[in-house]
Amino acid sequence: MTESSPAIKMEIRGLHFYYGSTHALKNINILIRERQITALIGPSGCGKSTFLRTLNRLNELIPHTRIEGVVTLDGEDIYQPGTDVVSLRQRVGMVFQRPNPFPKSIFENVAFGPRVLGVRSKIEIEQKVEQSLMSAALWPEVSDRLHSNALSLTLGQQQRLCIARVLAVQPEVILMDEPCSALDPLATLKIEELMQELKKDYTIVIVTHNMQQAARTSDWTGFFHLGEVLEYGPTETIFTHPKDPQTENYITGRYG
Ligand code: ADP
Repeated sequence: MTESSPAIKMEIRGLHFYYGSTHALKNINILIRERQITALIGPSGCGKSTFLRTLNRLNELIPHTRIEGVVTLDGEDIYQPGTDVVSLRQRVGMVFQRPNPFPKSIFENVAFGPRVLGVRSKIEIEQKVEQSLMSAALWPEVSDRLHSNALSLTLGQQQRLCIARVLAVQPEVILMDEPCSALDPLATLKIEELMQELKKDYTIVIVTHNMQQAARTSDWTGFFHLGEVLEYGPTETIFTHPKDPQTENYITGRYG
């Protein structure tokens, strides 16, 4: 690694994942670089969401599942006994496909995380809410109606609110599972612009079905196929000189 290469934030080695007898992830080996955007692409059902959830142990909420292999965050194995899973999920936050704000005010949605983490001071909470909404590029649109119900926002605004909610607990890594699939093109563009801002401070891993989005936004791309990563590398290389014919078929829309 040269001196200018981004540091490794997460390392996945020999990862296998099973839902009962379904072998959903097969020997995944990937490095996630710090303050970079890593896109995961591939046909539906090939394990992208499952993989994303292994990065903050969300899969273990699903019964009859089993994992093998190593996932590290800053060099520490997140599956080792004694790992504080609540703290892990604060460090590695998740934004889901459908915006899922609580049916409460905009303010309360963002204040929730810091409160759970024990922040009591009213001023501190207000500052965190404002900072998080600013970082999520939502503040100018909601600053005069912080106490309106979050569900009154457009879907695009709701998704940026969900990003603000994640930012409010100061994560290091943000996992995004098709965050734009419910959004119109303009709202999608706003999220993509926001991702470029966020990557100055955060490491982002995004699952997307939108090839233009992967090509436009990411630094690294992994192509998943039937539970394996067939190809992983710099986005430019994957999109201009894919080594695997199946990657090429997929990104050029000839898949299936
Ligand atoms: P993708 O995100 O690429 O669409 P998924 O990770 O959702 O793929 O799914 C990978 C495989 O795991 C699929 O065969 C899917 O049916 C299976 N799977 C996903 N979630 C569950 C679950 N909760 N229980 C059982 N099987 C699941």
